Amino acid sequence: MTFSVHGLAVSRGIAIGRAVLVASSRADVTHYFIDASKTTEEIARVRLSRNAVIDEITRLQQDLPKDAPPEISALLDVHLMLLQDELLITGVKHWITDRHYNAEWALTTQYEIIARQFDDMEDEYLRERKADLEQVVERILRHMKGAASPMLPAAQAGASRKQSQQDLLLDDTLDVPLVLVAHDISPADMLQFKQSLFAGFATDVGGKTSHTAIVARSMDIPAVVGARSASQLIKQDDWVIIDGDAGVLIVDPSPIILAEYGFKQRQGELERERLNRLKHTPALTMDGQRVELLANIEMPEDTLGAVKVGAVGVGLFRTEFLFMGRKGKLPDENEQYLAYRKAIEGMQGLPVTIRTVDIGSDKPLDRLVGKAQDGHLNPALGLRAIRWSLADPPMFLTQLRAILRAASHGQVNLLVPMLAHASEIRQTMGLIDQARMQLDNKGIPYGPVRLGAMIEIPAAALTLKLFLRYFDFLSIGTNDLIQYTLAIDRSDESVAHLYDPCHPAVLRLIADTIAECQRQGKGVTVCGEMAGDPSMTRLLLGLGLRSFSMHPSQILAVKQQILRADASKLTAWAAQVLDSEDPASLIQN
Ligand code: PEP
Ligand code: MG
Repeated sequence: MTFSVHGLAVSRGIAIGRAVLVASSRADVTHYFIDASKTTEEIARVRLSRNAVIDEITRLQQDLPKDAPPEISALLDVHLMLLQDELLITGVKHWITDRHYNAEWALTTQYEIIARQFDDMEDEYLRERKADLEQVVERILRHMKGAASPMLPAAQAGASRKQSQQDLLLDDTLDVPLVLVAHDISPADMLQFKQSLFAGFATDVGGKTSHTAIVARSMDIPAVVGARSASQLIKQDDWVIIDGDAGVLIVDPSPIILAEYGFKQRQGELERERLNRLKHTPALTMDGQRVELLANIEMPEDTLGAVKVGAVGVGLFRTEFLFMGRKGKLPDENEQYLAYRKAIEGMQGLPVTIRTVDIGSDKPLDRLVGKAQDGHLNPALGLRAIRWSLADPPMFLTQLRAILRAASHGQVNLLVPMLAHASEIRQTMGLIDQARMQLDNKGIPYGPVRLGAMIEIPAAALTLKLFLRYFDFLSIGTNDLIQYTLAIDRSDESVAHLYDPCHPAVLRLIADTIAECQRQGKGVTVCGEMAGDPSMTRLLLGLGLRSFSMHPSQILAVKQQILRADASKLTAWAAQVLDSEDPASLIQN
């Protein structure tokens, strides 16, 4: 039966496909598609590990001391029974053979299915057997870890999987688009999925500017977050429509609904084709004001997409993505240098703004998703971004040296996140000098960099003169500026309705920052999600902004707004919006 689940629209477009449920507790399990020729091998991996676990438990049982409580032996019996359950292995075989999931993914998928069946059982004793099943699956996974097969990028293995919507409706077999449904996905895992062919994403938790949502947007595929109990209501392999414009998931749609969304999907594609024609058009307002449209990237390879849509540089390289999901082993100086250099070369002579690492809050180093990571109760207010860097000078110096070295290959701006205190600014400047000295001492060449600070804490926006004394340019991180001004956790869907980019206090801080930079002749960019929201373009232009940085996927839609705008007329209107009690109502009209 068709039903819908509502959430927050974070990445536009419509995706229609079969649900792949990924439990966040299983986020450490790799997910990739195997090549069809590897099916037998992959099934054998699970079988071998299962048999090894059966041997292990049988031995355990045989070696039990005579006086061991009978419950232990009974428990081991249950484990053996679960291991030999045909439902487990037949299911695993199905996911590997028919869907080309890798062994670990197939096993955890089948675990989720059986676990749900346990959840639905009336009998409490049977319901509790879910925990035993989990232990058994853990054991098999641990065994497989020892004999893991090399990872094959999903994009490559699934290259033949793309099909037109028409085919999808006619052919309900192997080659159908897949949509990912999870309780939560960490930004690092999301990045891994960037290589895959998922047609859309949906998560139970998350806000519009949570980093998981940001990565989904950078992939330019439909996504809905904050859909509360989606991962409970949707079952493995259900047909799901993800409406990334309205923030709705439609499960098990009827043929009429499918046809309607198929139509909407085609309309969206046509709109994109129309926008594509603007690729080479210069970003000028109707009255001839030039506007700089820059790209936000997470990985050096993202420069490809940035150049393709005509970005005139990178306005924000979120380098923390190089640091995440590495089990604490951080990238060394050379690895970082090569990554920065690759981004610089990718931009073919255009400037690249490299932000120093912004780890913490909803971007943990490893897969600890959740509020209480590392025991910190409130990580958004804790050791994050520049605070994290200053707490570990050798780590920070390594990154600074890598950026300075990369700067000898092109125009580089070095951007520092989340500064609030004069002491932090001075410490940062001191460390930049020290990094240069270290390179001098070793005779290693490096290039000049323009220094910039992010304005993302109200304290910074209220002490602009201090910042401009030290920095060449400022970049307004509206995602955090909103979070910290309104005391709203940007990744918490329960307060998402209060996360308001148009709050007069937020607009005032943005307006003052732009105005002060203009007065002092310093550069200013907005690099938060607001810059890529076409409904905010006119207002930002009216406030005097001429430099926007956003996901490459947003650039053309924003450019369209710029081409239609008369900047000279927007100044007075923006002043009215700033004074209004309800700015959103003026912006939408
Ligand atoms: C911001 O806060 O607006 C920003 C661009 O930084 P991030 O989203 O990475 O925190
Ligand atoms: Mg930020």
